[in-house]
Amino acid sequence: MKLELYKTARGGYATTIDGGYPVVYYTHDGLTICARCAGLETDDTQAVIAAEPYYEGPDLLCEDCQKTVIQSAYGDLNNGGE
Ligand SMILES: [Zn+2]
Repeated sequence: MKLELYKTARGGYATTIDGGYPVVYYTHDGLTICARCAGLETDDTQAVIAAEPYYEGPDLLCEDCQKTVIQSAYGDLNNGGE
């Protein structure tokens, strides 16, 4: 999916897309970041180059702000539950 599709009308990036799926963003430097950080003005190394719905997997901690936890839509299916 094109990155533009994740942009909101206000110029930021969407936290979730249609269906309520969380979105993760990837920077030029290979960081996995949250929508809020994706929308911040940064230098080129932090430029957002890709995004995708995060369907399943462990919770991700945003590697930029180190605060936002991105939860997958279906959880960590390989973990066998808790
Ligand atoms: Zn963040």
